[in-house]
Amino acid sequence: MSAGAPPLHDDTRALPAAPEVVQIEVGLVQNFCEILFCPDTREAAIVDPAFEVDRLLHEAARRDLKVKLALITHTHHDHIDGVEELCQKTGAAVVVNPREAAAVSAPGRTLIDAVDGQDVAIGRRGLRALVTPGHTVGGTCYLADGYVVTGDVMFVGGCGRTDFPGGDTAQMWNSLQRLARLPEETRVYPGHDYGETPTSTIAHEVRTNRFLRCATFEDFRALREQKRR
Ligand SMILES: [Zn+2]
Repeated sequence: MSAGAPPLHDDTRALPAAPEVVQIEVGLVQNFCEILFCPDTREAAIVDPAFEVDRLLHEAARRDLKVKLALITHTHHDHIDGVEELCQKTGAAVVVNPREAAAVSAPGRTLIDAVDGQDVAIGRRGLRALVTPGHTVGGTCYLADGYVVTGDVMFVGGCGRTDFPGGDTAQMWNSLQRLARLPEETRVYPGHDYGETPTSTIAHEVRTNRFLRCATFEDFRALREQKRR
């Protein structure tokens, strides 16, 4: 895309009011989970429950929250291994892209399709699914008014690998370009604590993230395919 071209998607069109967000680092590979909640109804969603489910539920309970949803960014084990336990303990429904839903083990639980542009309500607040493949076939970011949960698509200072099954370097480039067009003050909540700070902003990533600073897809591919992370 050339500088100054109009955005391909108006991803921020009429976004619902944003849930409040609590970021929690869990497990042994620096995973981040988020608890997203409506301060009025106390309904909550937990992003990518995989490790330390009891701790996540404790963090929700001490804020007087009722966990209604598990929001899945993608179905690598370090993002979904706790879904079944979370659903059994809370009755939560699971929001996941249909292209990856078969990988989620949540017997008897409701699956809600995270298709592109789909709004997901959390009490009186909500967010929007942005399907952003490249790390996986149905990788999904969740955009709220003011922040975006980016899973393993965008990290602080990095991006997800594209050499796992279902990965695609060209799709990853397109997905990162799409995220880069979000409002610059949008706060980035990544799926792992791999950066210098736990969160960032789109503006900071566009300026400093070496994967976003690539001028061309060929530059990006060369960089992505030589780096493991
Ligand atoms: Zn992953």
